[in-house]
Amino acid sequence: MEFKPLAWYKLRDVFEKITGKEIHLSRGDSTSIFWDPRDRYILVKCPMIGAYDYARYEHELAHVTFGTNPSYLRNLAVRIAKELDLVPWTSVYDYVSALECVRVQSLWAELYAGSHTLFTKTIKKEVTPLDVTLGLAFKPDAVPTELQNLKPIVDRIKHKSVWSLYDVAKDYLTTLKLRRQEREQQQKTGQNQGQSQQQNTPQQQNTSQTQQNVSQSQHQDSSIQTQQQSTPQTQQDKTSQTQQQNNTGQQQKQNVMQTWKQKDATTLLPNQDKDAKQRHTFEGDTPYDEDKYKELEDIDDKDSEDMAMQQLEEVKAKVRELTERERNDKRLMFPVTVSVPLRRRVATDDPELTRELTRLFSRFKGSNYYVPSEQGTAIDVEGYIQRLSGTNAEQWLDFKSRSRLTVVVVLDLSDSMEDVLELLASVGLSLRKALEGVKAIRFKVYGYRGYYGSVHVKELTEDEIRHLGCMGTTPTAEALEYIDTQLEGIADRKLLILVTDGEPTDIRGKRSEKTIELTRYRVNQLRQHGTQVFTIVLLPQQKEVQTWVKRAFGPEGAYTVAKPDTVGKIVVGMVASHVIRALTY
Ligand SMILES: [Zn+2]
Repeated sequence: MEFKPLAWYKLRDVFEKITGKEIHLSRGDSTSIFWDPRDRYILVKCPMIGAYDYARYEHELAHVTFGTNPSYLRNLAVRIAKELDLVPWTSVYDYVSALECVRVQSLWAELYAGSHTLFTKTIKKEVTPLDVTLGLAFKPDAVPTELQNLKPIVDRIKHKSVWSLYDVAKDYLTTLKLRRQEREQQQKTGQNQGQSQQQNTPQQQNTSQTQQNVSQSQHQDSSIQTQQQSTPQTQQDKTSQTQQQNNTGQQQKQNVMQTWKQKDATTLLPNQDKDAKQRHTFEGDTPYDEDKYKELEDIDDKDSEDMAMQQLEEVKAKVRELTERERNDKRLMFPVTVSVPLRRRVATDDPELTRELTRLFSRFKGSNYYVPSEQGTAIDVEGYIQRLSGTNAEQWLDFKSRSRLTVVVVLDLSDSMEDVLELLASVGLSLRKALEGVKAIRFKVYGYRGYYGSVHVKELTEDEIRHLGCMGTTPTAEALEYIDTQLEGIADRKLLILVTDGEPTDIRGKRSEKTIELTRYRVNQLRQHGTQVFTIVLLPQQKEVQTWVKRAFGPEGAYTVAKPDTVGKIVVGMVASHVIRALTY
């Protein structure tokens, strides 16, 4: 699977428009989602590396798309915890939110089946509320056998609206509680009573319990203490009432909690330390109308499914419409500085070359030159090009179009171009002069380099070509993306000749597999947008074509040159062959 870094942002853009929410995307060690309590934005964090991360990222977008509401989930957890006499409510919350994950994922699967297949593979064989619940829904063989008969309950939340959560979650937790009680009973009769304590304070109880039992649940226990002692601000607001009520029967609830935790640590649902990468956290708040939600909880499964399916259809329609449009979105994802390094030294054109080219172009200019057949193509022209460039021009000839031609020469201005820069500048100036009077041809020269975290790229004036300097890195993909946007709207036949001498880097000068993939992607984008792309790669030391050249530019698009002094001829040959084509048709 080819992985394009821009895909993360493009998908974000699409779903920003679909959901009407501002979605911030940033890199994080684990996957998480945060709802800004003032509803200004939703922040999704994820590692942004491989395909599994991408599937998890899409899962977060599913939460945004299908209306996950963290405040409502907490409200449900608090209510259900109270109704079922389960403490702490945060444990209940783990199951409620896991069911919400099942719900949104089931809808997302209808949208992107491939992504769902990948997501299913990320479900771990671990006995945590999240993995068990997702497993029951989508990967039952990853769930312990004794839990598998809970599947019908979990499946009920699939393809439903958010208002089915209360019913299903209560059902799920009631059953879980029952199972715990059964097991507790079994254990009581089968084992000693050493765990029945009489602590004075809940905190001590927690601590000793943890130490006596399982060190693995330490994390969980400490979070329970946090819950009881210093609840985070937003949660405290929502739950203070419940907390107060709980205090009256604190001792009794503590006992329930003990068994809950104890069972967690034994057979039913132990809380293992969760791997940071697997954790999927909800944070933040979303305001909502509590009364309205509560009323909607009364709808039956059928109505709930109808609502969810209607929502799904609306999303599908928007996806179709937007992805079509976004495909042409060329928004640049990096800083661009429109400038090039200049110096005092002055390059001049090569008078002999200028004269030769002028004569060549004017010979064809305006003349109704007829090319009899593809095979017999203007032998003199080809021969000329061949002599001039020392290469076979045939492969570059384009027989299809009669429109005008825009020729773009793109010069890599990174440090190492120093040796050939003057020669290239001279060739550029000669071509420019020779083409001055040729109306059918537009000739442009761009220079680019990476410098201080931005791409410096600019269409060069004649004066700039004369004073061209070089200094910096080689962000070829980014430069090509920028130039692609500049060529948009030019209806001519377009020819782009990239002259570079090194492996592409990112803006900061780092080389990696990714920059090569990105370069290839950009070259292909240019081609898709109607620009022919050829690359001249200067490899003074190595005669053999390095693999990255082929990978970045494709086997046919790259021309490697070992001797820098032939570069000028090749550029001239390529440009001349295309110019003549444009003039003679
Ligand atoms: Zn989720």
